[in-house]
Amino acid sequence: MFCQIISGAVAASIVLDRPDLVGFLDQRPVFKGHVLLVPRQHVETLPDLPAEQRDGFLAAAQDLATAAKTALGAQGSFVAINNTVSQSVPHLHLHVVPRTKGDGLRGFFWPRTKYAGGEVDDYAARLRAALGA
Ligand SMILES: [Zn+2]
Repeated sequence: MFCQIISGAVAASIVLDRPDLVGFLDQRPVFKGHVLLVPRQHVETLPDLPAEQRDGFLAAAQDLATAAKTALGAQGSFVAINNTVSQSVPHLHLHVVPRTKGDGLRGFFWPRTKYAGGEVDDYAARLRAALGA
């Protein structure tokens, strides 16, 4: 579905148009001005994004987060990517949601858990090993 927006087959309110990227308004925004940033190339998740596109992708995310303030008067923004789980469309998309104190957003107050004794070291060790740290 995002590929159809990128190709122009499906109409969308485009707000950012770059050689590798498109940003458009989410049709069902968390708050008005909620933008989805997508690579033109069809990749499903963040780990699939080619390395040469990473800088441009994050630079566009910065520009959208800045525009939420300068263009829309938001105090800040929430920037997020769902990978596979809770990902409604299997084409990588980064959400930029304008935020203002007291806006009532509750959907992103995730439940929190606690590590059992020693567990924190095990999780850290597994991640360090995978990341080569
Ligand atoms: Zn696609």
